Amino acid sequence: MPTPCVSTRSSPISPESRSAASSAAPPGELFPAEVAAQFHKALEQVFSTEQPVNDLEFRGAQTPSPWTWLVSAYPVSTSPDQVRWAGIIIRDVSERTRSEEALRRTEKLAATGRLAASIAHEINNPLEGLTNLLYLLRNFSGLDGPALDYVQLAEHQTRRIADIAQKTLRFYRQSTLPVRARVSELVDSILDLYKTRMNTLNIHLESDLDPETTVFCYEGEIRQVLANLVGNAIDATSGGGRLVVRARRSQSWTNGQPGDQTGGVRITVADTGSGMTPEVRGRIFEAFFTTKEAVGTGLGLWVSQEIIQKHNGLVHVRSRAAGNGHGSGTVFHLFLPDDESLASRPRSAV
Ligand code: ADP
Ligand code: MG
Repeated sequence: MPTPCVSTRSSPISPESRSAASSAAPPGELFPAEVAAQFHKALEQVFSTEQPVNDLEFRGAQTPSPWTWLVSAYPVSTSPDQVRWAGIIIRDVSERTRSEEALRRTEKLAATGRLAASIAHEINNPLEGLTNLLYLLRNFSGLDGPALDYVQLAEHQTRRIADIAQKTLRFYRQSTLPVRARVSELVDSILDLYKTRMNTLNIHLESDLDPETTVFCYEGEIRQVLANLVGNAIDATSGGGRLVVRARRSQSWTNGQPGDQTGGVRITVADTGSGMTPEVRGRIFEAFFTTKEAVGTGLGLWVSQEIIQKHNGLVHVRSRAAGNGHGSGTVFHLFLPDDESLASRPRSAV
């Protein structure tokens, strides 16, 4: 049997296809080792069966991003009874695969959100019953001192459950219309979610939120942006440190400096975490770019940027990785214009 080689094709089969164009090069020289072995097997099959092999899927996790190829191989005869060559067609379908995965993930997140909201909703009714029963129990004259203490504890824990259910409902309620939201409440609803994690990781939170500042926005979407900024800051500060969150009325800025006089709100999320190298900093808004390997999606800032643009807002980032004795950390500034015309713009443009 001839040694499998890759035949030369001079023109691509279709815009999506590309031909393996190296004259008689063994697969090991053209492809990564793990693929070359699979490739070799497919070619052997073509030579032994003299039949084409269609749409074998090859995947790899190589940097800069995972890839997927669909490979077909077909026999080429140089004489009626001898197959001496194999033609190979490789279609790079990485983009398509990644888009499908992103869609699946987004759908999963949305479904999880809906599930959480409906559970929270269902919990509310029995919880109200429980609260009323505890109230009656506390006023029941036959209870002695320790029993009353237990009832009080039970009431306290029940209030906590009610609080969690309320927050979950508020968090996942989708705002289909822009509303005037109190910025301190928006930010607090996110910080509440992360409080336990910050305590566990020894992250000291400093929040400075002007209680009067409001902004006209799609509340659910801005919450999503803030959840990702705070989540990222905590991920970067997993060895302990400081997280500073600030929100106040402000003017728009250009290149980090105050610019035209559009009024709005400025939210700052700063951490003393690992910081970023200039290379990482340059790529954070790309879809699927993550340095968190298995746990990151690389979609947080990509989606956030889109939401901010839809609000005609701005985002500005400064970051420094540790080195030469100086500390590391990251500062994200977010500016949202307070613009009631958001409501009159078509939904698709917002
Ligand atoms: P993910 O959180 O899933 O990785 P994001 O789009 O939210 O995706 O962030 C992309 C990348 O940006 C992160 O993987 C990380 O490398 C970098 N990054 C974002 N925020 C910070 C931060 N506060 N400190 C350090 N790196 C950050
Ligand atoms: Mg993130």
